[in-house]
Amino acid sequence: MRKVRVELGKNSYEIHIGSGILLALGQELRKLGFGGRLVIITNPVIQKLHGETLRQNLQNDGFDVTVLEVPEGEGQKSLDSAAKLYNRLSDFRAERATPILALGGGVIGDLAGFVAATYLRGLPLVQLPTTLLAQVDSSIGGKVGLDYGQLKNKIGAFYQPRLVVADSRIIKTLTQKEFSDGLAEVIKYGVIWDERFFGFIEDNLDRIKALDEATLEEIIFHSAGIKAIVVAKDEKDFNLRHILNFGHTVGHGIETASDFSLSHGEAIAVGMLAEARISNKMGILKQAELMRLENLILKAGLPTKPPGVSLERVIQAIGHDKKIVAGKIKFVLPKSIGEVFITSEVPGSLVEQVLVDFNEES
Ligand code: NAD
Repeated sequence: MRKVRVELGKNSYEIHIGSGILLALGQELRKLGFGGRLVIITNPVIQKLHGETLRQNLQNDGFDVTVLEVPEGEGQKSLDSAAKLYNRLSDFRAERATPILALGGGVIGDLAGFVAATYLRGLPLVQLPTTLLAQVDSSIGGKVGLDYGQLKNKIGAFYQPRLVVADSRIIKTLTQKEFSDGLAEVIKYGVIWDERFFGFIEDNLDRIKALDEATLEEIIFHSAGIKAIVVAKDEKDFNLRHILNFGHTVGHGIETASDFSLSHGEAIAVGMLAEARISNKMGILKQAELMRLENLILKAGLPTKPPGVSLERVIQAIGHDKKIVAGKIKFVLPKSIGEVFITSEVPGSLVEQVLVDFNEES
């Protein structure tokens, strides 16, 4: 098992990464001082695949386990679902010391985390991420939250978990599309922080795609390590943490304009390329580096251009238009593979040009 520590003073915690380590969770919970009752929040799919084994293990370890299931899907990140969970917690008289174990992808992590942050003004939270995206991204850093109408992730809190356990074996049951979603974020870490890690992904892509356990452990370890450093330097997202949004400004625009026919990871992959092209057109990112990123995204099985989406809708969703010359929208652009910078000086016309180029090439 490998460990990454997220240094946040009294809110510091460890991320444990390894194959099959969820089976020994009871031991780790006891080390944190937990015993007796605990609550697992998950969905029926994950419960069937992995949750029941976990429940039995913890029960055999002497814990009194309650499993609360919420249906699958982003729609569950709602005040309504949170209210249902509050009712269930109230029914069996959960107390301030009752830990919440969030067993699932980002949806479960965000929802269960929000409930843990708010019920009785805070129950201990343990993140047990089961998607690659959750293991490298959403379970780390304490952002928990819900969607509210059109406002995605706008109701929430910073609430750090007491422990994150990323079991690299558990992600082997993901569909290829769900796995690729996470892989886009893994590639992002290489671009924003670590050229050597980017090289590792390039060199080991076949092993990654074949779900080789040691290689999966390695990419999760490095990605989690980078996120941990960034979060430790900027817990509340005032400055450095913005770099984690590389690919997301244009990516979100494309995701919205595609009416979500593109998965999040696919949209981020195209978003990263669009933002790399913007940097290249600004004379910053070298052509060879841009090609390196494009090749990796292509080989990873992610799209390298948007589907036939309306350019106007993308621009509108980004909140950018031709008239905006500077100052409004923040972009994270690559200087080179391994280093990015934040700027609000991207002319709207340049964003448009890059999107037009994509359209003309396809
Ligand atoms: P998700 O949670 O919807 O999971 C994707 C699908 O995979 C679901 O259908 C789920 O049931 C299934 N699944 C999960 N684990 C599985 C497993 N081991 N085997 C088989 N199927 C499994 O999607 P996600 O990509 O993990 O997370 C997306 C969410 O994360 C979004 O709501 C996004 O806003 C949020 N997010 C939060 C942060 C943060 O910092 N809090 C960061 C990034 C994304």
